[in-house]
Amino acid sequence: MRILFLDQTAELGGAELSLFSEVTHLPHPSSVLLFEDGAFREMLQNAGVDVAVAQASSGALTVRRESGLVAILFAVPAVIRLVLDVARRAKGYDIIYANSQKAFVVGVFAAALSRRKLVWRLRDVLSAAHFSATLRRITVLLANWKAARVIANSVATGEAFALVGGNAAKISVAYPGIDEAPFTSVSEAAIAAVRREIGAGDAKLVGVFGRLSLWKGQAVFVDAIARQPGVIGVIVGGPLFGHEAFEAELREKVTALGLTERIRFLGFRKDIPTLMAAMDIIVHSSTAPEPFGRVVVEAMLAGKPMVASAAGGVLEILEHGKTGWLYEPGNPEALAGALRLVLDDITGAAAIADAGQAHARDTFTVAATVRQIEAALAQS
Ligand code: UDP
Repeated sequence: MRILFLDQTAELGGAELSLFSEVTHLPHPSSVLLFEDGAFREMLQNAGVDVAVAQASSGALTVRRESGLVAILFAVPAVIRLVLDVARRAKGYDIIYANSQKAFVVGVFAAALSRRKLVWRLRDVLSAAHFSATLRRITVLLANWKAARVIANSVATGEAFALVGGNAAKISVAYPGIDEAPFTSVSEAAIAAVRREIGAGDAKLVGVFGRLSLWKGQAVFVDAIARQPGVIGVIVGGPLFGHEAFEAELREKVTALGLTERIRFLGFRKDIPTLMAAMDIIVHSSTAPEPFGRVVVEAMLAGKPMVASAAGGVLEILEHGKTGWLYEPGNPEALAGALRLVLDDITGAAAIADAGQAHARDTFTVAATVRQIEAALAQS
């Protein structure tokens, strides 16, 4: 079974990091085709993966999640060129594995032209918070027509697909697995170096990890840190996918609240396991349902108290009071309250974090992901 993996972006979002793990562990000859060049292409190439960049005009990528019909129609000529390119390349494979929404739409027509099977690795919650009604309608129609299998990254993601009319019989669930080793082997010296870099002193460090974007909720995090004196808030992540304006707004907010001494921006980093190990608490702050939440699993693997926003796939990862803490999405007061629960009982919190670590280790392994995807591919 030869697989052609398709992804629209070459930036390093969670979908791409998860795809990296799948491409490098699934036991099939495969190649990756990206719709643009960038860091993800380099990462794949450095790992010895066969990777190419499609000759797509950037016009095909102008459709955004919120696009209406007119914007979509404008992109059609560029999309056609891209489809023809993908269809030509797909001839050498048995399955097209679309890792993102635009890759899926292009994949549908490429699969039809090349008579190849198409699976959709669904990593988005198809809700109004993330996609325009037009895009949701179009993708679900296309999925019902042409997807041999929809492999959702959580039950929540699969349910959202079914809720907008997606054929539930096509859904399989495969959770993204994360290798625990980098999270459990961080040295004390590396932790001390990070705390020095941050200028932590004796203060407790509360970190939030993820790309900077309105719905990832870093503004809620800032408001919660404002309510919790004595801690330093650490924001790790860059403005991927064109969200630079949001970063500027967030920095202004920090200044306006007089928090420049207590909030640090570290930008996009590749040393996530080390940074997580240096934190006392890790927060997940998304205001809309998170499709899965790699950062939630990573914080648990790091053995840290994880305080997460109670929605979407996160509810399948973490149980409040047993393996972590949940709070009402978008509510800084609730987040500050959860932080106080942890800070007021550090010993009790450590026991819960240990339980979280054991649960994440047992449940979200790469081997389990491979098994679940293989089972889904066998049904396609
Ligand atoms: N991440 C990273 N560097 C950063 C911030 C985040 O490598 O500076 C990683 C993070 O460790 C996680 C991924 O990006 O593996 C984000 O995945 P998640 O599922 O949390 O969110 P997504 O990007 O898919 O919305």
